[in-house]
Amino acid sequence: MPRFKCKCGSMLRYSDIPCEIEYKFISDADFDNYHGSIDSEELYMKMGSFIRCPDCQRLWVFWQGFQNEPVEYVKAGYFT
Ligand SMILES: [Zn+2]
Repeated sequence: MPRFKCKCGSMLRYSDIPCEIEYKFISDADFDNYHGSIDSEELYMKMGSFIRCPDCQRLWVFWQGFQNEPVEYVKAGYFT
């Protein structure tokens, strides 16, 4: 089962389909290659994924796919 422990201690499980904590993204340049009707499966395969910890809001971005380690992004306070 795909999962890992966030630095806040929460266990992040991302095997559910659909997954409540997984988000998909694509660069504007890559999306610009799509025109007209889009094959949703083809687009889905082109998108990257990140996991958002529901407890601390950290983002774990899988820039190089799930087979590689994610990059951590920590929420910073606007007024701090
Ligand atoms: Zn967390």
